[in-house]
Amino acid sequence: MDEKLACSAKARHRGKTRNGCGMKQQDDAGGTGEVDDLLASVGLGHGWRGTLAGSWQNGERMAKTASGRQKSLPGPAAAHRDEGTRSGKAAKRVEPVLAPGWLRYAWLRHGFSTRAAGVSSIYGSGGGNGSLNLGWTQQDDPANVAKNRRRFMAAVAGEHAHAAATSCSGPSVPCSLLPVPSLVTLRQFHSAMLRIVESEHLAHPTRLQTADGRAVLRGDGMMTDLPGVFLGIQTADCVPVLVADVRHRAVAAFHAGWRGTLARIVERGIGTMRLRYGSRPEDLVAAIGPSIGPCCYSVGEEVRFEFESQFSYARELFSEIFDSDPVRDKYPLLFLTARAPGHSNIGPQIHLDLWQANRRQLLDAGIPARRITVAGECTACAGLGTAAGRKYFSHRAESGFTGRMMAVIGVAAYSARASR
Ligand SMILES: [Zn+2]
Repeated sequence: MDEKLACSAKARHRGKTRNGCGMKQQDDAGGTGEVDDLLASVGLGHGWRGTLAGSWQNGERMAKTASGRQKSLPGPAAAHRDEGTRSGKAAKRVEPVLAPGWLRYAWLRHGFSTRAAGVSSIYGSGGGNGSLNLGWTQQDDPANVAKNRRRFMAAVAGEHAHAAATSCSGPSVPCSLLPVPSLVTLRQFHSAMLRIVESEHLAHPTRLQTADGRAVLRGDGMMTDLPGVFLGIQTADCVPVLVADVRHRAVAAFHAGWRGTLARIVERGIGTMRLRYGSRPEDLVAAIGPSIGPCCYSVGEEVRFEFESQFSYARELFSEIFDSDPVRDKYPLLFLTARAPGHSNIGPQIHLDLWQANRRQLLDAGIPARRITVAGECTACAGLGTAAGRKYFSHRAESGFTGRMMAVIGVAAYSARASR
């Protein structure tokens, strides 16, 4: 096998954006186009990693259907996926992924963003148009991010984002950078730190965000019962969890990567809702949003040890997945390493199921299983192999060079009489 082919095949297996062979990877939807071409030239296809059997539905893992394809979730989320974000033609409209059944609460606003239908270009086309990067990343133009945020908030909250877009009169900030005034975000740092957004914050908005919309408060979870305030959690693989108390009309949003999950941020957050708002677990609804799934989230042994020290059910959260790979089978010499036996990363990988881990915390906090929704879409692999391409930003799958999604929840400022 020639050197170029060896470099390319190795690079694909490492998942690097740039590798020692000086070759840029992952320019296309699947990130393996060049390697695929090379391998195809010597008569090889490539196999995707197998996923855990089943999908999530109504908060439960469901068996695979007879056809072997996982069924999509019922309700508005599935409808949005079908009609909007996957079709290049319709992708100009921002179509948030919604939790099934939550539209029945007329006072409640929420949504999980995808990467489609924005104005950013640095992270790829986002399904035929620009991509909807919602984070102030180093690479993207802040004006793009500000515009994307207004677009997304218009889709989630309507009237508030419109107010922001039409009130461009402040002399201190250019119009293009004007923030959405009602959106509150955090300087996230993988902690279990919780923030409560209260009326005194509204009297001093600079305590929440800077003039150009940057977060001021540090933390990884927040809650509020103030109408017209929207809580935004940013992710690109970590788990966003949204919770609403449909009796007291309070909402919460959490950022749960493995560290936050280990620190029980969701379980603690619901305890704080009980204290602060008198929330009863049976009045809560919860949605676990798109994030890296057990199919793609390989972790080190040390993570498993940490979880086993903290959770009696930790063993249920891990699985070992072996990459079945015709290339590796056919060319084993390509994958030899100089590491000592037992120290190479070849072989079964330990995969962590953060969806199940956070669902378990919601259950342990007392929320009935039927009121917990798991989107069940993996940010690292959803959309791969389709014409629209990767559906979400994935820090892991894109080696850190990626945008940010946002999960938003809030109480509408002007709400009709709510159903419960
Ligand atoms: Zn996956």
